[in-house]
This record gives sequence, structure tokens and C-alpha cells, in this order.
Amino acid sequence: MEFATITLKPGKEQSVQRFHPWVFSGAIKAVSGEIQEGDVVDVMDHQGNYLATGHSQIGAIAVRIFSFSKVIPDQDFWTKKIKNALELRNQAGLTDCDQTNAFRLIYAEGDGIPGLIVDMYNGTAIMQIHTVGMYLIKEILCEALKTVLGDKLKAIYNKSEGAMPFKAEVQPENGFLWGKTTDKTALENGLLFNVDYEKGQKTGFFLDQRENRALLERYSQGKKVLNLFCYTGGFSFYALRGGAELVHSVDSSERAIELTNENVHLNFPEEGRHKAFAEDAFKFLNKSKEEYDLIILDPPAFAKHQNVVPNALQGYRKLNAKAIRQIKPGGIIFTFSCSQVITRDAFRKAVFTAAAKSGRHVRIIHQMEQPADHPVNIYHPESEYLKGLVIYVE
Ligand code: SAH
Repeated sequence: MEFATITLKPGKEQSVQRFHPWVFSGAIKAVSGEIQEGDVVDVMDHQGNYLATGHSQIGAIAVRIFSFSKVIPDQDFWTKKIKNALELRNQAGLTDCDQTNAFRLIYAEGDGIPGLIVDMYNGTAIMQIHTVGMYLIKEILCEALKTVLGDKLKAIYNKSEGAMPFKAEVQPENGFLWGKTTDKTALENGLLFNVDYEKGQKTGFFLDQRENRALLERYSQGKKVLNLFCYTGGFSFYALRGGAELVHSVDSSERAIELTNENVHLNFPEEGRHKAFAEDAFKFLNKSKEEYDLIILDPPAFAKHQNVVPNALQGYRKLNAKAIRQIKPGGIIFTFSCSQVITRDAFRKAVFTAAAKSGRHVRIIHQMEQPADHPVNIYHPESEYLKGLVIYVE
């Protein structure tokens, strides 16, 4: 099969030869024929040598590459890709575990499948598609999921509304693509949670904090815990199981607070140690009189683009300085950044500056990252986004 071709300017082949999966529009010298958004295209160097195959896209990223060798991206091709992604999760011990049945099966570029996220919640696959190319083959992707997961798959739900690029002509609607279920509970390290994949943020739950939540549990015994930006309360119910004396959860979204309360109730029906507040985290810290021993700071991405990095760093400094100033001597802070454009180094510097400003003695006791089901493609450093520090504040 012959696909339309995109020819790169001299020198622009280098990044593709290093397996980076994006072709920027500025790198293109010529295009053969009419290309519609979402079409499969072959990428060539300026001398006409084949480099890669991907989906075309309107915008700064003009091609998202899914193969660096000549392929026909048919059913078999996508089934193999998804099988390969599942194999990694098998090795990570995530697929056949009686304590955890929620994991990310496909992490876009991290798994060599740009434009596609699939999260599994107790057999329900939540598919979030970010490109027209992937959207056009969603039936093929469903077939692939069915083949690869077999009877472990109960349903496939499409959660792509609002996930497409701004100018895309396809208008996805959320809903089941295959099967149906009303069961929305899943299990993580033996704790239950409700996943509101229909109305919740992203696919309904932040799976990327699984291991960091488990680490927090180990530090919770007898502590007064403040979970800022709690969303569905993940860190809070781990702290409760870890023996915290008191847990306060804060999120500016009323719905998030409802979900947190539901999840706490699901695991600890008679819990008197937990309280949730629908409030701005900064305001809450400003007026709080409580002396906390353990604080979690897991804000939304303060920077989504390079041009707002300085403001975002300012935000991280301010938030961390407040928490460092207020925590009890000998207290511990779990602090995170999920902004992909903020480097690990820049984040660490922001926390250092916050510590220095507060005049307290701070030591790093753990460095945290995203788990194995959010693999970092070494040729695409952009797939690394989550970083965190556990700090001990004297
Ligand atoms: N820690 C969570 C994920 C946090 S996502 C987990 O483990 O699942 C970020 C959350 O911050 C969202 O729920 C969002 O509603 C909340 N948020 C955003 N701005 C906020 C603010 N200024 N104050 C409090 N919460 C805020």
C-alpha cells in the first residue's frame, strides 16, 4: 500500500533517525498530494529515503510517528502493539494481582502508540484518544483490546470528548464502544475507589500516584495529615489505613470533595478521623490553625506550555514555602509537579528556594516518579512528567 509522503528539509531527518516520534510542521519541505488530518503518511528525508510512518495532524506537530520501519498499519499491527504494552504491565506485576486491578495499559508515546491512552479499571477499558488518526481507527483498536485482553475485558468506554486538538473535524462523544457495565469500583493496593470515568477528570482517577500513595502510607502512623489538591482522595485513604490520627482533604472542586468522601466511606465506613473541605488550597493553608505532621502537595500542572514556565515555578515556590513554613518540626512533605515542561531539576530548585526562604532545615528523603505503567520512551523525553520529593523539615 502506498501512502502520501511528507518530505523533510535537509537536516530535519536527524530527530526522526533518533526515533523521536514527532515531526514538526516547520521541518517539512514538501507534501505529496492532498493530506487530510488523520491520514497515514510516510515520512522521507530530502533525498527520498524512507524514515517513518505516522498519522498526520494539523498544528505544530504535523506527524505523530508510530513506526520507524515500513508497515501497513492493519489490525494485526495494532494488536501486536497493544500486546506489547500488556506484556510490560504483566512484567510489572500489574495485570494479575488480587490487590490491584487498575493500571494504565497504554501510555501514548511512552508505548509507541501516540495519541492513545487506555486505563483499565477492574476490566473496564477507558479509552482517551487525542488524535484524529487514532480516532478514525477506534474500531480496530477495540478489536485489538478484545483480542489481547480476552475474557479479562468487560467493556470499553470512549472518554475522548474534549481530548481532540482544537481544530479537529471529528467530534467524539463519550460512551461505551463495546460491552457495558455499571460497576465503577476498582481496587488499588487493596483499597477500593469509585472511578467517575463519565464525569471525572481525565479517565477518572490518577493512577500515576499509586506507588507514591503506598509510600505515604508508611509514613502515616499517628500523624496529622493534610492532603492538598486531593481530587478523589487517594492519598487520604492510604493515610487512614496507615494509622493517621487525623486526615484533612482539600480540593477547590465540590465534586472532588464528594468523591473523596465517598471513597473514604467505601473503605472506612465509620471513619471519624477524616474531614474534607471544598476550598482553595492556598487559602486553606493561610487560615489553618492546625499543626500538621504530614502534608501532601499534588497540584494540577501549573505549566502546560514552555512560555509559562517562570510563572509556574513561582507557583511551586510559593506553595512549597507556605507548607514548609507551617509544618510541625520533624514534619514530612510529599511535594509533586506533574507539569511535563518543568524539569526534575527546575522543580527541585523551586523546592530548595522555598526551603531557603522559610529558613528551615530541609532534607530530601525520597525522590518520586511515575510508575512502570507510565513508561518513559527514552527517545521521547517528553513522556516523563511526574516528579516528586519527600522532604523532612526540621
Ligand atoms: N492528588 C490527586 C490528584 C490531584 S489532581 C490524586 O492522588 O488523585 C489536582 C486537583 O487539584 C484537582 O482535583 C483540582 O480540582 C484541584 N485544584 C486545582 N486548583 C486548586 C486550588 N487552587 N486549590 C485546591 N484544589 C485545586
